[in-house]
Amino acid sequence: MKCADLAANLTEFLEGGLDDDAETEALEHLASCDRCEMVLAQTRSVLDLSSRHGRLSLEPAERADLLERILDTRRTTR
Ligand SMILES: [Zn+2]
Repeated sequence: MKCADLAANLTEFLEGGLDDDAETEALEHLASCDRCEMVLAQTRSVLDLSSRHGRLSLEPAERADLLERILDTRRTTR
């Protein structure tokens, strides 16, 4: 699994919506990728906030923003 694949499946992963194979691949990627682990932590806190406001899923714009963040960190060195 690549960073972009994980980003595309991130909310499903957090909501437990992935099938077993995809979930295993996501976990394997997270174990080997610090950037995605960081983004996952950020996404999780966004979802926590959202659920407290009665909204469980990310808006498309938020999802696109997270994807952009993953791809940006991969392109640039900080
Ligand atoms: Zn990654």
